[in-house]
Parts: sequence; C-alpha cells; structure tokens
Amino acid sequence: MDATSQRFRDNARGALADGRLKESLASFTKTFPEKRQKVIDRLPEFDALRDEGVSIKNHVLANLDFYLERFEAKAAAAGTKIHWCRDAAEARETILAICRSAGARTVTKSKSMIGEEIAINEFLEANGVRPVETDLGEYIIQVRGESPSHILVPAIHLKGPDIAETFREKHTALPAGRALDQPEAILREARTVLRGEFLAADVGLTGANMLVAETGSIVVVTNEGNADLVMSLPKVHVAVASLEKVVPTLEDAATILRLLARSATGQDITAYTTFATGPKRPGDPDGPDEFHIVLMDNGRTAMLGGEFRDMLRCIRCGACLNHCPVYAGIGGHAYGWVYSGPMGSVLTPSLLGAHKADDLPNASTFCGKCEQVCPMRIPLPAMMRHLRERQFVSGGPAAKGRGALKLWAFLARRPALYRRAMALGVGLLAILGRGRGRFRRLPLASAWTGPRDLPAPEGRTFQSLWAERRRGKPASRSRTEGRP
Ligand code: SF4
Repeated sequence: MDATSQRFRDNARGALADGRLKESLASFTKTFPEKRQKVIDRLPEFDALRDEGVSIKNHVLANLDFYLERFEAKAAAAGTKIHWCRDAAEARETILAICRSAGARTVTKSKSMIGEEIAINEFLEANGVRPVETDLGEYIIQVRGESPSHILVPAIHLKGPDIAETFREKHTALPAGRALDQPEAILREARTVLRGEFLAADVGLTGANMLVAETGSIVVVTNEGNADLVMSLPKVHVAVASLEKVVPTLEDAATILRLLARSATGQDITAYTTFATGPKRPGDPDGPDEFHIVLMDNGRTAMLGGEFRDMLRCIRCGACLNHCPVYAGIGGHAYGWVYSGPMGSVLTPSLLGAHKADDLPNASTFCGKCEQVCPMRIPLPAMMRHLRERQFVSGGPAAKGRGALKLWAFLARRPALYRRAMALGVGLLAILGRGRGRFRRLPLASAWTGPRDLPAPEGRTFQSLWAERRRGKPASRSRTEGRP
C-alpha cells in the first residue's frame, strides 16, 4: 500500500468526522481491553512472564546473527530454502520468482503484516498472479480494495451491513435474494467462496509469528485455521518474515505465545497455533513439496543499532492500539500505513523515514497506557518523545513552536516577570472574553480553538489569588463563585 502518513492530519480530520467509524471503534476499544484484563487476572504470573519475554527478545537482539544462522542451518536441514532479502523490493521479486517457477496463477494468503509492509498483493497482481486473502477480515477488505485498519482485526472499521453489501456486489454467482443479515451467514458465504480458492491455489503465502532457531520451524497463529489450509494444500509454501522474529528455542516460543494470545485477543491460547518445519516428508499425509522462507531486513538492522532497538521486541499483539485514546478516536487508516496506533507512530518513522511520518510521534496524549499494557514492555512514549526531540532539533513540525517555547523559557527563568506577564495576559483575556465566557477563535491558538472552545479566564491568576490568601486576606471572589 502507498503510505499516506504525511497526510496524517487530514486523514485524522476525515476519520473524526466519520460517525460510523466512531461507533465501530467505540465498542471494539471497550471489549478488547476488558477481555485482556479478565484473562490476565486469571494468571498471577503474567508480569513475570512479561519479564521473561523481554529477556528472551533482548537476548535474541544482542545475538541476532548467531540465531539467524542457526535458524537457517536447521531450516535447511529440514528441506526449507531460505532467501535473504535486504528490502521490500528484493522480497517481492523473490516471492514472484518462486510463484513463476511453480507456474502459479493463484496464491492463497493468510494475514501477514510483512506481506502488507512489502505490498505483495499489488505486486503479484501487477505481474499476473492472483493473490487471495483467506483471513475473513483481510478477505473483506481485499474485495473492497481497502487496507487493514487494525493489525489483528483488519476490517474493524466496517459493520455487518457494509460487509453484506460488498458480498452482494462481488459474489454475483450466488442467489441475489440470500439473507446476509447475520454474522453467521456472512461467515458461511466467505467459507463457500474461499473453499474453492484453497483447493485451486498453486502457492500458499503466510507470514510467521516466530522463527524457532532450535528446530528451523515457523510458528503461525490464527483464530480461523485458514493459515493451516494455506500451508498444507498448495504444492509450494512461502513464509515471509522479518529478521527479528527469530527466537532461540521451542520453550521460548511457548513463553511468547502465552503473552501474545492474552495481550492480543484476551485468550489463554489462540485457536490454531501451528509449528511448521520444512516440506512434506515421506509418509506425511499432507504438506507442501517445497517450503521457502523469505527472510527480510527492510530497516531492522538499522534499528538494531539505534535508539529504537527496543521496538524490535514487538510481537504485533495490538494491545497498544486497543488501549490508545488516539487510535480509539481515529482508527487505523488515518495513520496512513500498515502499522497504526502507538507502535505505528514509532515503527512507521523508523522504517519509512521520519520525513514521511512527521506527525505520527505527535499523535499521542502521553497517557502511558500503551507502555503499561505492552507485553514486551516497549517504552513507546519515550520513543515518541525521542522522535519529537529529533524533529525539534532538525527543524521539523515540532520546531514550529520554537519561538513560543523560547519566550516561555525566558519568562520562566524570571519568576517576577513571569507573574506580571501572566497577570497581564489573563486580565486582557478576561476583558476580551467578558460576556461570552469563552473564545471560539484566538489568534496563535487555533490548534486549541479549532476543535473546542477556550474558557475565558476569570480575571486573576492562581498565583495572585494564592499570594493574597497567604497574606491573610480572603481572596477576592471570582465572577463565577456563587453561581448555581
Ligand atoms: S508495541 Fe507492544 S503492545 Fe504494541 S503491538 Fe507491539 S508488543 Fe503489542
């Protein structure tokens, strides 16, 4: 997908004006955190598990070359072909070459954020190979020509009637008068359509939640079981993953799975958790004849040596999105690329370049909830703050307030002058706002007054009232005191 992160402000304005989107997000951002909390309350050792997960990931990041080589050796011994790719373009070409050598016309896919990151669907289609998404949410947005609005629930911005309408429009071979008013009917219809695609596909393409160095296996989790059909029915399987997905052992993978399911969907364990190791062996009842893993860097090694290294611990659980008040207000599309919410506000500038996502680090209230719920204890607010600092130093949007901040700093270093300036400003605003009690527009304060009113001050500063009280005089009454 083409990134529109530079247009975040416009995107967000559009999202805020979308009443239907607001409704969809309101229920989702309530139910997911509740489910997560319930399941965590049942596991007293959840915090210890988080510490363990963090130390596994930190250990891997400190020894990434070692574990990647071990993974490659083990995977190759099981018959898997590993393809190292520096960037998205190489990964796309590699996948296309595999499809061409298999004579593929149709590729079934399970949900993969790396697939979205490299825009593999658009690329395959442009080269005569038809990709078919098989996760229900991904399938819905694919047929609508949209991008995911959440890393776990890609069609969260849609309601049942939207989906029914799309299915009627696209599935023209089915009876026009069929009922599609219940979620079960929508699900049944998607299943019917996708069954034929599963059976006809020449190549299956998945992501990988983890790569296990001990065994050369990929780990794929879903709640629909579609990835298992994608992996086992076509003759050729391709998994695409970024470098930091590797973990040392099966036991480490189990620790992270326990964190992932609880943080992502509030489940003890995801419905389908598959460990796949190499192609079909003699005697296996099913599985692909060829098994390829496309291992892609695409900016990860650059992050490894920098301030955003901790972000490479991310397991894409989506908890930070589900708890973010900014995401809850605008949804995922406004962020303009694959990754949204707090993790997107750090990942997008890190992977695409800060100049392509100037506003994202500012899309935060700094309430700190994202870090609080992150199973990998990623310091997201500190990272966003760091990106803001960089913008300030480099003269980006954050530097626009430089003059105002300088003036504030000048006054703050001179308390007497500060008090006088405040008293003057507050007194002036009180006179200007008299009668209305609020400002709908104020020069130099449009960022505040654009979406909301600014209450007019009462005429005295807190400091002057406080000083008066300390001198023993009863503070003079403000205009609103005594009002009902
Ligand atoms: S940053 Fe943390 S909470 Fe957000 S998706 Fe990644 S692991 Fe989950």
